[in-house]
Amino acid sequence: MIKQLLSKRNVYFDHNATTHIAAPVRSVMNRVLKSYWGNPSSGYAKGKMSAQIIEKAREQVAAAIGAHSHEVYFASCATESNNAILKTVSNHFSPEKNKVISTPIEHPSVMNTLEYMKTQGIDVQYCPVDKSGRVVLEEMEAMIDDKTSLVCCMLANNEIGTIQDVKKIAAMARAKGALVFSDCVQALGKIPIDVKDLDVDYATFSAHKLYGPKGIGAWYARISCPLEPYIHGGHQEEGMRAGTESIHNIAGFGEACKHVNKLVTFSRQNESLKHTFIKELKGIKNDIIINSPEEHCLTNTINLTFPGIGSGEMMKMLDYHGIAVSAGSACSTSSNKPSHVLKAIGLTDEAAQESIRISFGSTTKSKHIKYTLKVIKQYIEEEKNKN
Ligand code: PLP
Repeated sequence: MIKQLLSKRNVYFDHNATTHIAAPVRSVMNRVLKSYWGNPSSGYAKGKMSAQIIEKAREQVAAAIGAHSHEVYFASCATESNNAILKTVSNHFSPEKNKVISTPIEHPSVMNTLEYMKTQGIDVQYCPVDKSGRVVLEEMEAMIDDKTSLVCCMLANNEIGTIQDVKKIAAMARAKGALVFSDCVQALGKIPIDVKDLDVDYATFSAHKLYGPKGIGAWYARISCPLEPYIHGGHQEEGMRAGTESIHNIAGFGEACKHVNKLVTFSRQNESLKHTFIKELKGIKNDIIINSPEEHCLTNTINLTFPGIGSGEMMKMLDYHGIAVSAGSACSTSSNKPSHVLKAIGLTDEAAQESIRISFGSTTKSKHIKYTLKVIKQYIEEEKNKN
């Protein structure tokens, strides 16, 4: 029965991994690919036209995050941007201020960079999070001292959706003379962002999480905050990120940012779909555990544990029925290790390996939810009958 229902179904519930490229973004990129291929560093008209495309996109990204355009730098992705900020800022203050404080639930592009920094003599410490994934603020405050150069805390978690009180964390850091960096990759396009209001010194973003192209990211650095080149070479990006710019990707990022308010509205609409989904799911299998917090959570993200059913098995079954979901971060899917995020919020290895992440997007409709619930219900019933 499900096979018939489904044969043509294509349900994408992995928007935290990546998103499709929106039609207006594709069209801007096509135009740029066709007509703006001059090197932006060339002094003649063809080069200057390309440079203008980049500056327009920079303004669009800046407008989406509440920054000035000269505080926005383009890089190949958010992973590169995270590496650039963490390594160069910690290096700038080392050895006098040698401590960096972060959280145990950061994306691998931050976690693995921090672990590398430890091998280079940086004193990296992780502040615990509670069961909902929120930073324990009192502990964070106690950990920040005058040796702390940087406090690094993501705004929204990619696996469970927890939104941190970055503004409060920034105030704590500032009171002790430390700078603040927030990976805002999962937040842009899902919740409103204003880097000035958050009061962070550095923040990072990635176009492919908001219906833009892959291979382009950006960082924000508040004017007058230390910034040093990470990739050395030419004078591009004020000498902070050498390499001829990917003009079409940058233009696509700019166009995607033009639509952030609309995306945030779509995200709000996801909230009722999320509630329906969770309620119905609990009706199907009452021991399902929802790992995403009820409050301070992205409206598109649901992380859940199906006790007794491995995440690999569940993902395979859903994939067979045309439904794409994931187990944790796309960057660590192949590792087969239990998620560090789920472990940090208290799950056992076993429970972490029975958990999947569902992330809705701008095209998610109630028919996708109904269909998925039907597939899960049938699977659970079949499994019950087997035992
Ligand atoms: N930070 C977070 C929170 C993410 O979710 C991701 C991507 O999954 C990244 C950073 C890395 O982004 P990119 O794919 O642009 O390197």
